Amino acid sequence: MRILVTGGAGFIGSHLVDRLMIEGHEVLVADNFYTGNKENLLSWLNHPRFELLRHDITQPLFVEVDQVYHLACPASPVHYQYNPVKTIKTNVLGTMNMLGLAKRVKARFLLASTSEVYGDPEIHPQTEDYRGSVNPIGIRSCYDEGKRVAETLSFDYHRQNNVDIRVARIFNTYGPRMIFNDGRVVSNFVVQALQGQPLTVYGEGRQTRSFCYVNELVDGLIRLMNGSFIGPVNLGNPGEFTILELAHLVLELTGSSSEITYRTLPKDDPRQRQPDITRAREILGWEPKISLREGLALMIDEFAQRLGQSGTGKNLLV
Ligand code: NAD
Ligand code: UDP
Ligand code: UDP
Repeated sequence: MRILVTGGAGFIGSHLVDRLMIEGHEVLVADNFYTGNKENLLSWLNHPRFELLRHDITQPLFVEVDQVYHLACPASPVHYQYNPVKTIKTNVLGTMNMLGLAKRVKARFLLASTSEVYGDPEIHPQTEDYRGSVNPIGIRSCYDEGKRVAETLSFDYHRQNNVDIRVARIFNTYGPRMIFNDGRVVSNFVVQALQGQPLTVYGEGRQTRSFCYVNELVDGLIRLMNGSFIGPVNLGNPGEFTILELAHLVLELTGSSSEITYRTLPKDDPRQRQPDITRAREILGWEPKISLREGLALMIDEFAQRLGQSGTGKNLLV
């Protein structure tokens, strides 16, 4: 198949491209390199079935493909809040362009939505029929509301124009290739521990997240794309941890003697998050098997290698 991956130079996108290339597809990546980079795709750059386009999806794109995995959008609060208006444009105009493309070429379209559509949830764990508790005017809204509109657009293109859609609600995902200054908690803690800097816990660290290893997440996306259920489907690992537990686990696995330091909790930071994955289990036969401990060990190895290559002297979080 000919497959377009928007955001394919990013963290999840590049792991997805690896799988699609290994499966023998023709893969086209459209990325503006805001948080992604060519190094993530180094193994494919000269491959005849692979093509990399520097393209901002807020502009129309005319290509012929059979499937679109729509991942383009910064995912870390630090990056999506840097230019919030741009984040909304990416989610609204960008998603509309990619749906327009899918409509024209009759391609199947998968949206990488997010657990953030549930906001600061009042039910726990979160099921797909929960409608969420999102602040429409807060600092996270450009992303949360952007993704909610992206879901609405997907379902309206489906109802109105028969576009064949799939909607995945992805929960916190981690693994190799996250950028050092990504700003998300797992990459921050791993870099801090490996560099002997204090681990920055926001608030008291009692808020929870549920972390899924990237390879398993990618497997869920591929199953959803190629099955018949349009979604939405939660994809995440139900193993739930407080941020303080995560910090201690990273310290244990790296053998680091870094201290833990406490910083102000950002506004609207969700207090708890855990996916109910009954639907993914039943419909996709999908369930994560890699524990946080196992996945972190794999990620720490890759980060240690990359940090070694770039020299450990400088502060890589800025
Ligand atoms: P990422 O920031 O590593 O990747 C996003 C990619 O999109 C980058 O390569 C970036 O350069 C590109 N991009 C951003 N704006 C663009 C634009 N206007 N035009 C073209 N390219 C653009 O993030 P990620 O973690 O790989 O996330 C991928 C997708 O999955 C995102 O849509 C994100 O919202 C979603 N998601 C991720 C997580 C997670 O924990 N990683 C959780 C929920 C949802
Ligand atoms: N679009 C695109 N690539 C295509 C087809 C459409 O980028 O192959 C864009 C198009 O420029 C438009 C958007 O997708 O801005 C929505 O397309 P649609 O056909 O739904 O709307 P219309 O063009 O009728 O306004
Ligand atoms: N967090 C933290 N220290 C950091 C980065 C993040 O304590 O250096 C916290 C953050 O406040 C949130 C959780 O970790 O409660 C997850 O943050 P992340 O940005 O990874 O993802 P999201 O909040 O979007 O789930």
